[in-house]
Amino acid sequence: MWQLLCILALVITSEAMPKKYAGIQVKKPINPRTSSGNRLDPTLVLPSNYNLNLTVTRDNLDNGKFDGIAKIELYFAKDTDSFQIHAKDLTISKVTLAKSGFSGDLTPEGPDTNDFVTMKSSQTITRGYVYVLEIHYTGKLSDTDMDGFYRSNYTDDDGNTKYLATTQFEQMGARRAFPCFDEPSFKATFDISITYPNTSMALSNSRPKADPIDARNGLLTVTFQTTPVMSTYVIAFIVAEFTCINGANTADGTPTKVCGRPGTEELFSVGLEAAPAALNTMADFLSISYGSLGIKKMTQVAIPDFAVGAMENWGLMTYRESDLLWDENQSSNYDKQIIYMDISHEVAHQYFGDYVTTNWWSNVFLNEGFATYFEYHATAEIRKDWEVAKQFVLAEVQPVLLSDSSGCSKPLSYDTNDPVEIQTIFGDISYNKGGSVIKMLQSFLGIENFKQGLTRYLNNNGHNVANPEILWDSFEESKPDDVPDTVKTVMDNWTYKPGYPLLSLTQNGINITISQKRFLLSGDDTDETQWYVPITYTTSADPSEFTETTTKLWLTPDTDVTIVLDNEDSWIILNNQQVGYYRVNYDQTLLSKIETALNSDDLDNIDEMSRSKLVDDQLNLARAGKAEYADVLNFLTFMKRDSSYYSWSSFYNGFSYLFKRTKDESLRNLLKNYIKELMETLKNSVPFTTEKPTDQIYTLKQVLALTWACNLGETSCVNNATVAFTSYTMDNNIPSRNLKSVVYCTGLKNSENPTEDYNFLYNKYLSTKLATEQLTILKALGCINDSTLRQEYLKLALTDKIRIQDVRYVFQSVYSNNGNEGVDDTLEFLKNNYQDFETHFGTQSTLTSLRSILTSLISTVADLITEEYQIDKLSEFLKTEGLDESVVAAGNKAVESATGNLKTISILEGQLNDYFSPPR
Ligand SMILES: [Zn+2]
Repeated sequence: MWQLLCILALVITSEAMPKKYAGIQVKKPINPRTSSGNRLDPTLVLPSNYNLNLTVTRDNLDNGKFDGIAKIELYFAKDTDSFQIHAKDLTISKVTLAKSGFSGDLTPEGPDTNDFVTMKSSQTITRGYVYVLEIHYTGKLSDTDMDGFYRSNYTDDDGNTKYLATTQFEQMGARRAFPCFDEPSFKATFDISITYPNTSMALSNSRPKADPIDARNGLLTVTFQTTPVMSTYVIAFIVAEFTCINGANTADGTPTKVCGRPGTEELFSVGLEAAPAALNTMADFLSISYGSLGIKKMTQVAIPDFAVGAMENWGLMTYRESDLLWDENQSSNYDKQIIYMDISHEVAHQYFGDYVTTNWWSNVFLNEGFATYFEYHATAEIRKDWEVAKQFVLAEVQPVLLSDSSGCSKPLSYDTNDPVEIQTIFGDISYNKGGSVIKMLQSFLGIENFKQGLTRYLNNNGHNVANPEILWDSFEESKPDDVPDTVKTVMDNWTYKPGYPLLSLTQNGINITISQKRFLLSGDDTDETQWYVPITYTTSADPSEFTETTTKLWLTPDTDVTIVLDNEDSWIILNNQQVGYYRVNYDQTLLSKIETALNSDDLDNIDEMSRSKLVDDQLNLARAGKAEYADVLNFLTFMKRDSSYYSWSSFYNGFSYLFKRTKDESLRNLLKNYIKELMETLKNSVPFTTEKPTDQIYTLKQVLALTWACNLGETSCVNNATVAFTSYTMDNNIPSRNLKSVVYCTGLKNSENPTEDYNFLYNKYLSTKLATEQLTILKALGCINDSTLRQEYLKLALTDKIRIQDVRYVFQSVYSNNGNEGVDDTLEFLKNNYQDFETHFGTQSTLTSLRSILTSLISTVADLITEEYQIDKLSEFLKTEGLDESVVAAGNKAVESATGNLKTISILEGQLNDYFSPPR
């Protein structure tokens, strides 16, 4: 955007600058980016305002279409006789370009494969002037894509199907609703009017200018206030027969409300309480009120069909129903936490994304990293008793440390214009690594410096776009003296290089030397990347230091660093609260001192976050061949006395992998017994019959421990769960809301009347209107202990009984709950039902498309393969005639990696046997 505005600035020195641009000031250069192939040319033409008139009549809703007129003010920076604009699935009926003195005709050509419509003018369009481009068109309200302007539906209390029209534009959906410059840096203001049936309501980003006016024939027209300058992907509009409830105003007087389909109003309470709280928390943290950003309202809407969890449309945040609606009697504590965190995430986006936007999707961590960081930080401020900041480590840092240790992981920021690749950027690197690296930055800057830098970043770049350099430079003025270089230099390799370092510690007397090397699961040591690593640590001399996250020393590229201990017998543990994005490998001397402490009365002196980190690191070091499994399993003996939610979460994650990569039944049984024995203390700390729903961590831990206990076949867990399940099927005693997932799955797994029990729960799925309950049931139905029923269940995924948004849960439920059989079931189903997939999902390339569903299904199932014949089955499927090329390509990769995994299995089984049945 800097590039484009700089050029504009050159142009406008000799021409009058249109007022619209006068307010946009760029203080720092943003990545120069020339247009290439599938990108718009930022040096030619810029939109300044869109005037959109959309019509959605009852007929339109029934027939899945809409009408639109777009009048777009365009500023031309060069003389030209043609220009490009995005449009997809729109039928254009009329195009004009107007300015006094201009009488050329415009002919649209396209759209081409990049969704460009090229407008060819019969007369030269002169630079330096604003023209109004007017386009009349009709569009489709798709039922399957949940992208663009699309149609969703629900059944009302009288059994009628009700349709609604709603939007999901990130990343490239706006072009399916109106012709536009559909890239984040092409910001403009929007004047939106909607004509809609008088039984519905119409919502958009800003407030209505006035009450709707009668448009005759049972239609109303509402015009919304002009929006601030914003990107197309955060525009939203909805036409639905919804009801809304007002929430509290924020501290700056901004009104909030929640809307959803009629009959769900009682489920709005969490959304109503969390949004104003999150908006106030963010405003306090950043010293910038939400209302001052430019839109003075916040509406949250629950949509029955929704592609992602939630979307940060400015002033009109949209959610999947399970991510906003909560029932105090039926939804779980975790469901409630998810809603709080989603709301905090989307609220953070109002600042990071809507107000200051990434210049291009390559840098989307500038949006998603901050949203992830604040999803926890803001929720932690509002719900102090939930330990959400600690959960950040389990849910964000540790999982991405795993995926980022693959040889093909990508950097946080890398250049690409490819639409398919752009979809993959919206993954755990942008979200989890983005959030983790920002958390590390916060810890080495200190919270106050961090806040000041963020406020500066937002104030300087509001209504504009930014890139990583602009962000890092914003902290330069307020950084501690010990930061070894500019913030930008310190952050460069964290931003532009994939992966992260493994810090190796070697003891020599009282001296501990620390060196670094990139950590790769393959064990490959050839990558020479070096990072600036802020280090914190705790020694046995002062265990209270575990909570201290201020940097103690820096490890800089190509230089080892030494810590001097008070006493050579002291233990030392690096990375307090796991605020640093790295792993640690202790030499044998250091590790055995830690091991001794963990197995002594010192256990509680080593805080639970550090135990969790040690468990995660040790299991991953073994996985990478940098430690022996036998040693690691010995090390984990301390877990026998550990009942922390955090240590056990990391433990179970590591052991999920071991189960995935072992197939020898007797070895798997040994593993099961090993875990059952270790988790005795944990299990006794959260008995099945003692629930404490007001204690969040107790509840999360109970669900975790019981899920594992029941899955491992632990007798008392299975008995309790099946009794609860039978009591539900026989006497309709609904299981406790927090233990439903355990009860449903265990009940079906151990069912003596599979058909009756499966049908019982399936009918509950059909009759409930509560989205969280539907999800809990869907995730459990695949647990049924009957392969024919599982095939039946998989078939349901391709019918209108399961919303397209939920299809993945059906497959997941089958392949992840039934070991080898689940994998066989899924492969069999793919082979026999591929044609139905195509009919059901259509061929659009969106988030929910056939291609993305199949690709992710195939790679996930392939990762669970343990037998040669399963690879053959998958390869056979990939030969299916007419299979999408990208699915075949992804499938072949999956086959390759599954073949590699088979080799891993024999190595891993060998190592585990060394532990369980050591050679005599
Ligand atoms: Zn987000």
